[in-house]
Amino acid sequence: MAEARRLGRTGEPAAALVVARRLAEVSTDRSIRLAALLRVAWHSLQLGEASTGLAAAVAARRLAEELGEADRRAAAQSLTAWLLLEVGLTDEAYLEADAAVALAESDGEPLTLAHALNGKGMALLYSQHPDLAEHHFRWAVKVAAEIDDESSLSLFLSNLAYAFADLADARERAGDFDGAAAHRNLAVDLGTAAIDTARRSGDGWMLRLALTNTAEYLGLQGQLAMARTLLAQWPATPGTPGVRETVHHLYTDGELRMREGDLDGARQACRQAFELAEATGHTDHQMNSLRRLAEIAEKAGDLAAALHDFKRYHDTYRRNEGEQARRRAQAAEIHFESQHHRAEAERLAAEVLRDPLTGIANRRALEQQLQAMTDGPHSIAIVDIDHFKAINDTHSHMLGDEVLRQVSRLLDAAPATLAARLGGEEFALLFAGDAGDAGAICEAVRRGIEDHDWSRLAPGLAVTVSIGVATAKAGEPEAALARADRRLYAAKSAGRNRVVADDAVNEARAAG
Ligand code: GH3
Ligand code: MG
Ligand code: MG
Repeated sequence: MAEARRLGRTGEPAAALVVARRLAEVSTDRSIRLAALLRVAWHSLQLGEASTGLAAAVAARRLAEELGEADRRAAAQSLTAWLLLEVGLTDEAYLEADAAVALAESDGEPLTLAHALNGKGMALLYSQHPDLAEHHFRWAVKVAAEIDDESSLSLFLSNLAYAFADLADARERAGDFDGAAAHRNLAVDLGTAAIDTARRSGDGWMLRLALTNTAEYLGLQGQLAMARTLLAQWPATPGTPGVRETVHHLYTDGELRMREGDLDGARQACRQAFELAEATGHTDHQMNSLRRLAEIAEKAGDLAAALHDFKRYHDTYRRNEGEQARRRAQAAEIHFESQHHRAEAERLAAEVLRDPLTGIANRRALEQQLQAMTDGPHSIAIVDIDHFKAINDTHSHMLGDEVLRQVSRLLDAAPATLAARLGGEEFALLFAGDAGDAGAICEAVRRGIEDHDWSRLAPGLAVTVSIGVATAKAGEPEAALARADRRLYAAKSAGRNRVVADDAVNEARAAG
């Protein structure tokens, strides 16, 4: 784990991913596996492997829930949010990030809160709310500065800069060029702060991100020499860049060369970016590269080449649409799978233990409860409605069902550990204590059913029950059930509407 962390914080996301993934697979310690899954999610995000990351983040979240860890659950949700953004599921990402912030605010560490705020800021940025995003990034920056985490601080500063660059674009589109320039200057200042912070932290990934982004803002401001100085520092950053970072660097370099008037160099850089993106199947990077290649050819006056590149850009765009839809569907599947499956499992678990007609516990629930009862004596009573067949026949099956429901309700209200319907018109009550105490309660239950106002269901309707009670010894629940059943039979034989709590049938209280 320490190795994965070290690699992750020194600009080696690919190597860190390998270590973390192996740890997630082999570790039997759930807490370590959770830590590894969170790292898999983060490094996948750094490398642009969204669906791998999402699967890990979702698994991490589930594990954090199992372990009852609010802090790491919030961390998993922040990562989920950012990964959902990567595949274009903006609404889902926002909800996830919002939940992560709420959880981190109440139960999380400051760093978790900062990352949750950053995730929510990203979701707001993607949903065209750069002003709200800015507010969240600022807050994340403040928290990270307070706890002195430079690697994270650099990330939040880069994203805050990005929000200002976005605001600058919006001003530019609205024709407010002074406003655009002012915002872009802020983006450059914040980007520069991100670079300094990343350099101090030794995190090469953060440093490369900050260098490339800031060079881009400077290029847009026409400060080409400054931009060039920053890009020149890229190759000497600590660690090994991933493919995504390399492609980003290459086409940023290409764009800068174009502005510098070095069209051949620009073409070469963008072509290299395109080839790398093509080899690794990243269509979005292919598009970014092709769009710039078309622009460069146009600048060079080679309209045939410009048209050729633009056509390829357009083809890739169309192909990417389909791929995006597929990726989105897959991500949605991964994201909702756990929630959907968990809700379904909980529903089924509850359902398999409940009798559908009456809503009380069923035989399976009773058996589970019997197996679970280990300490102290307990008793079981079997309750059978007298002449129920006659009730059905005289009135209706529907009325019979209602009688079953009302008897269930009366049994469920009895002071017993559990009331269950065993099937048909047969029920069971489970008690702590021996059959003597249980017999007294059963007698009250029997009388309660007899005295219940059944005439509201049908004039002249009377319902009574017979009950057999037995004490269960630990480890022999079936034998106790059989004994209670035998005593129930004795109660029926003795004239029904009575409780039999021991084998001396003669002692059974005569009814009425
Ligand atoms: P006893 O006093 O000996 O227990 O007589 P009984 O008529 O209650 O017993 P018997 O086993 O002969 O009949 C049980 C009846 O319960 C037969 C069956 O049609 C009815 N029954 C079983 N399940 C349901 C149900 O879900 N709803 C309704 N309405 N009737 C049911
Ligand atoms: Mg019956
Ligand atoms: Mg019966």
